[in-house]
Formats: sequence, structure tokens, C-alpha cells
Amino acid sequence: MSEMTNMSAFEIAESVNNQTVTATSVVEKSLALAEALNSKLNAFLAIDREGALRAAAKVDSIIASGGSPGRLAGVPIALKDNMCKVGLPTTCGSRILQGWIPPYDATVTKLLESEGAIIVGKTNLDEFAMGSSTENSAYGPTLNPVDLTRVPGGSSGGSASSVAAGIVPVALGSDTGGSIRQPASLCGVVGVKPTYGRVSRYGLVAFASSLDQIGPFSSSVMDSALTLEVIAGFDLKDSTSYDEQMGSLSAQKGLSVEGLRVGMVTEFVEGSDLEVVSALRDAANALTSLGADVVEISIPETKLGLSAYYLIAPAEASSNLARFDGVRFGLRVEGSNIEETNVLTRTKGFGAEVKRRIMLGTYALSSGYYDAYYAKAQQVRTLIKSGFERAYQQVDVLISPVSPTTAFKLGEKSLDPLAMYLSDVCTIPSNLAGHPAMSMPYALDSKGLPIGVQILAPALREDLMFRLAFALEGSSTGAPSLDDSIKEAINRG
Ligand code: GLN
Repeated sequence: MSEMTNMSAFEIAESVNNQTVTATSVVEKSLALAEALNSKLNAFLAIDREGALRAAAKVDSIIASGGSPGRLAGVPIALKDNMCKVGLPTTCGSRILQGWIPPYDATVTKLLESEGAIIVGKTNLDEFAMGSSTENSAYGPTLNPVDLTRVPGGSSGGSASSVAAGIVPVALGSDTGGSIRQPASLCGVVGVKPTYGRVSRYGLVAFASSLDQIGPFSSSVMDSALTLEVIAGFDLKDSTSYDEQMGSLSAQKGLSVEGLRVGMVTEFVEGSDLEVVSALRDAANALTSLGADVVEISIPETKLGLSAYYLIAPAEASSNLARFDGVRFGLRVEGSNIEETNVLTRTKGFGAEVKRRIMLGTYALSSGYYDAYYAKAQQVRTLIKSGFERAYQQVDVLISPVSPTTAFKLGEKSLDPLAMYLSDVCTIPSNLAGHPAMSMPYALDSKGLPIGVQILAPALREDLMFRLAFALEGSSTGAPSLDDSIKEAINRG
């Protein structure tokens, strides 16, 4: 079974289009693997066998009648369960949305399907994308396929885990403060947060609207390039989407990085584990040997990122999550009047981390504290942007660690929110600035756990970011070895 599920999205689309394999056979294999591994990984909250096979049959019939189903023909793709697809539940990893089936497709869902991609299921996440380990899901944690005693990172842990295990070549995640890049780093796959506004957020359940962005996970840089080319673009349904063409990303493969000025961000290196820093230095050396000009660069403002983020993100979340009131969506716990219904539903429906954020956000926005907290955080956000602007006058792109550590043990940080929040020190500043950034699997630590390198670029310069990623792919240590029990289950299939 494995040779097809291990095919890249690029290879699948090519083989389906030139009729060397059928979409149905590819999708069948992906579904079988998803089903076989889910009792171990809990990466999927829903597997849509029927819908996926129906969609695959449609792709095959288009091919049979001489048509072309698109650039992602027959490619099995998983969606993080905060993106809508008609007919499938969207839970956001929360009890409060249990049973809610969206009546509309997210723009990304539509775009993927219009190019022949097959949505095989919805992946697990920290409740409402709040977390860095996927342990905050109301439906149990997702495990890291490299080592089942460890977290896959979060909040898009299910998407990262399903790609790392080879269930799907591509999955989508959302990144508000690092939720694509950090799990990509911890699972050893590519993960991309595009420029804010590059990909429509229509149909993505909002967490912090000024920071949220959708992006791909994949095993190869090319597959993320292809996927982002499909999902990027202006959308009337998202007022923050960019009306600007993105240059070809796949065309960046093989382009020289000679003379490219690369800055290694001092502040992100400082708090990171030794092995993580040494992987980054190896990447820097590889780039130097390819002719890039690597220098260290300090952006002191980024140190304020975490504090600003934990005011802005909860403030926006407290407002966005007000809509879950027991009337319009999912769960309803009946009280004797509407206010009581509201309170009972929200008390039962939301988990501890979500409640913590709602309280933090409500406090930061309350009159009397607004100027001291929320307004101040917005000023800091501007400072961070100007810090990046200064850096980009000296260099073309930046590199840094993604996460200060490799994958940690389940339960290791779940009782200490602050320790968990620190997982995102290197990723949050890009969200605050609205810039693109990606995680590129580069090395393994002494335990065999994956280490990612982060590549950051100025707004709308995904092309440069991908050029560097393609260049680094050549010297990366490659995919980590999967946990023995996962390997066994794959071989049994
Ligand atoms: N871990 C961060 C948080 O908990 C970022 C989450 C995200 O990017 N969705 O808010």
C-alpha cells in the first residue's frame, strides 16, 4: 500500500492526470491508513470515507472522458477542523460546536476541490486553535508519530501528525501565533504561514482575526508551494484578503541563493536549546556554501511579541467567541431564561484554556484597562513591525529556530500555561507583523526528534522564502524515523 500514500502531491496529480494511477486507488489507500492509525494518533476528528471516494470517482470520470480535473487531481488532503466543508462537522476541537455542520464551504475548501483535491477528513486541534500541543482538544490529544509519548505541537497537531505519518501528502492548518510552524517543526514536516491576507479566511472559524492565516503542511517544499499556489488569492468574502498576484512558488526550485542576504535573528537564537541552535547554524553554513551572505541581526522589539500577543489574541478571541451562545451553533444547555442558557452552555461547552483567554481578553478590553493593556499592545505591535522593517533594509530574508525545543512529552507543560506559551516566542512576531514565515524540517536531535528551521520574509515575499526553502531542502537530514508501532501498523496495512 505504502508506495502510493508516500507519493508526493506533485507525483499523485501527475500520475492521476496521465492515468498511471486512479484517484480512487490513491484515496482508498489514504483512507485505509487514516483509519488504521487513528486509534494510535487521534489525528482525525472525522474521516469522510464516503465523500472522499465519491469525489475521487468524479475525478476519475473526468479523466476517463478526456477532461482535466486540475493541478491537485486525486490528491488526498486533510483540513484542520476549524475550516468548513459542507456536510462534515466542524468542531474546532470544542464541545460547544458538537454536532454543528456548516452550511457552506470555506474558500480554501472550494479552491482545493476545484483543482481536483480530495478532502479525506478533518484533523484534531487545540480547542479553537488555542494551544501549542493539541492537548487542549476536547476530543483527546493527538500524538506525535515520531514518538508516541510526545506531543505533535499545536494547535494544528492533527494536520502535522497526519502528514508526518504519511496518511496524506498535504494538510491545511491555521496559524495565529505559530500553529502551523511549531507543529511542523515538532513533527518534521514543512509548514507555511503565508502573508496575512494572502489566503482567504472565509470559512475559517475566527480565533484572532487580525492574526489568523491558513497555510499548508507537506513533506516536501514543492507540495507546499503547489498547495499555496492553489489556495492563495483575492476573495471578496474576506475583506482583508490581498488583491495582488503571488509569483510562482514552484518556479523557485533550483534558483540560486547566491548573493542573497540572510539574517539570523539573535533574539530567537538566545532562548533556544543548544541542539536547536546547532541545527540552525548548520543551515546557515549550508546557505553560505551556496553563496548566500549570512549575518547575525538583532531585532530587540521581537522580545515584546509574546506579551503583546497575549493581550491582542485573547482580546479578539473574547469578541469572536461571543457568538457561541447556545442559540446559533452546536451545544445548548437549557436554562430558565436566555441569559441562564447562555451561561450554562458556555460553562459546559468551553474548556479551561478557552475560558482563560476569554477572561484575559475581556479584562484587557474593559473600560479603564483598555488603554493600559489593549491599546498599549497595539503600540507594541507597531514597534515590532518597524523592527522587522529595519532588519529588511539590511537583509532579504531572516532565519531562526521555529520552536526553542523539540517535541516535549505529553503532560509536560499542560499544567503550566506560561511554559506552553513560550513555545511560540520565535513564531508570534511574524503574525503580529503580518509577514510570511515557514518551518523547514532540517535536522534531528540526539533523540531522533525533528528540528525545524524558520525562514521569515517581508510581506508578500513568499517567493524569496520558498527559494531559500528549496535551497535548504538539499542539505536537510530528511524525514525522521517513525515510532515502531506506527511503522508496524503501516506495514500491516
Ligand atoms: N500557541 C499559540 C496560542 O495558543 C498560537 C496558536 C495559533 O497559532 N493558533 O495562542
